[in-house]
Amino acid sequence: MSSCRIAIVGGGLAGLAAANALQTHGIVAEVFEAAPELGEIGASVNCSPQAVKALKAIGVAEQIAAIGHRSPGPYTRNMVTGEFVEYVNRFELAERYGEPYYCFHRADLIDALAEPLDHSHIHLGHRLKSVDAHDDGVTLRFENGSTADAAYVIGADGVKSVLRQALYGDDNPTFTGQMVWRALLKAEDAPADVVEPHGHTQWIGPGRHLIAYYIRQGRLLNIVSQIDTDEWVEEGWSIKGDPEEMRASYPDAEPRLVRLLACVKDCAKWGLFARPINDNWGRGRIQLIGDAAHAMVPSAGQGACMAFEDAYILGRWMNACADPIEAFENFRRIRMPRVHGVQRLSNANNRFKHLNDAEKQKKDLASAGGTKGKTAWVWGFEPVQEWDKAPVVPAAYADPE
Ligand SMILES: Cc1cc2nc3c(=O)[nH]c(=O)nc-3n(C[C@H](O)[C@H](O)[C@H](O)COP(=O)(O)OP(=O)(O)OC[C@H]3O[C@@H](n4cnc5c(N)ncnc54)[C@H](O)[C@@H]3O)c2cc1C
Repeated sequence: MSSCRIAIVGGGLAGLAAANALQTHGIVAEVFEAAPELGEIGASVNCSPQAVKALKAIGVAEQIAAIGHRSPGPYTRNMVTGEFVEYVNRFELAERYGEPYYCFHRADLIDALAEPLDHSHIHLGHRLKSVDAHDDGVTLRFENGSTADAAYVIGADGVKSVLRQALYGDDNPTFTGQMVWRALLKAEDAPADVVEPHGHTQWIGPGRHLIAYYIRQGRLLNIVSQIDTDEWVEEGWSIKGDPEEMRASYPDAEPRLVRLLACVKDCAKWGLFARPINDNWGRGRIQLIGDAAHAMVPSAGQGACMAFEDAYILGRWMNACADPIEAFENFRRIRMPRVHGVQRLSNANNRFKHLNDAEKQKKDLASAGGTKGKTAWVWGFEPVQEWDKAPVVPAAYADPE
């Protein structure tokens, strides 16, 4: 049995970011990660300026600048006709908000977050099995037979969080009715013009959307797609898919997309799981962050961004409050309205992207002031200046009074 003051369960994006955030305040946490090694294969993560600010503030500025790819921004087309819908110029956004918008390979981002940490405090192969919260601490029991006593616990164990289940019982994530196709191509294996004009193209159409963009300084082309489906698909990052089945999922695709999909030789597929918006973010000595607290559909590209904001802001509160329980309460008070708003935005984006009616799609976008208009409050957030302030959330996305 080991013991520590603060344990973080989950060494993914949220957990490692939280360990860095605490480290900037001289607080050492023990991280318990289920996987035998750090790192994730495959997928990528887009990180908008406000989350880049949070990452910089937790001490990984150099690391992320070295691995982040700066895309000129997504150029959105109608999936069936190829017609232009919208272009979001990320260079302009970087000017406006003072930090770039990065595209990362997830494995690179995990490495960047792990680098500043003392690895003797990262315990791999520790899959949390059960939790016993008592008056003076929390006992964590792992599948490998070991146990750890912690005074306070940060639950960053993802969408199927064991800590969350320990607190709230059968509060399981539900299948969103959507599946994801994902593929990674070497840049030279796909003709550049399939993602013209900016190397970052989003196709939106009836019941589905697909985004293709470069990562790793343009060496890899990442493809990720969400499709409405009644079929139950397993949850996970790397369930092997069939490229022919992937291609068949886009029966009406315009010629560029058909050519892009023809390049896919390997792909993964999985079901998307999320939770309805709720306040079950932890209590007492246990605080949930990242997907464990607020898993959302990825249609605004903000799940990891919210995890980075969580990490930074939780670190600030833990530094400011002598009692971590008080820090957790303040964290929840400040974070919930903003993250709930981002969850609502993600759901709204999802509905918009999958509309059948292309004209309505254009009108809806225009009336919201485009993606830039409806997302400005998310990207324009200043975590360092506003970490302890009630967040500004537009009425359309705000919690009911
Ligand atoms: C298709 C897709 C595209 C996305 N694109 C973006 C994007 O562009 N931008 C963005 O901001 N977000 C994006 N997201 C969301 C983002 O991936 C998640 O919000 C983010 O990964 C959450 O980080 P996390 O650390 O909370 O959870 P995870 O990344 O799931 O990490 C959880 C960690 O906990 C570990 N763990 C799990 N169970 C246990 C246990 N019992 N004991 C110990 N350890 C455990 C896991 O091994 C893992 O390391 C996307 C999501 C999807 C599905």
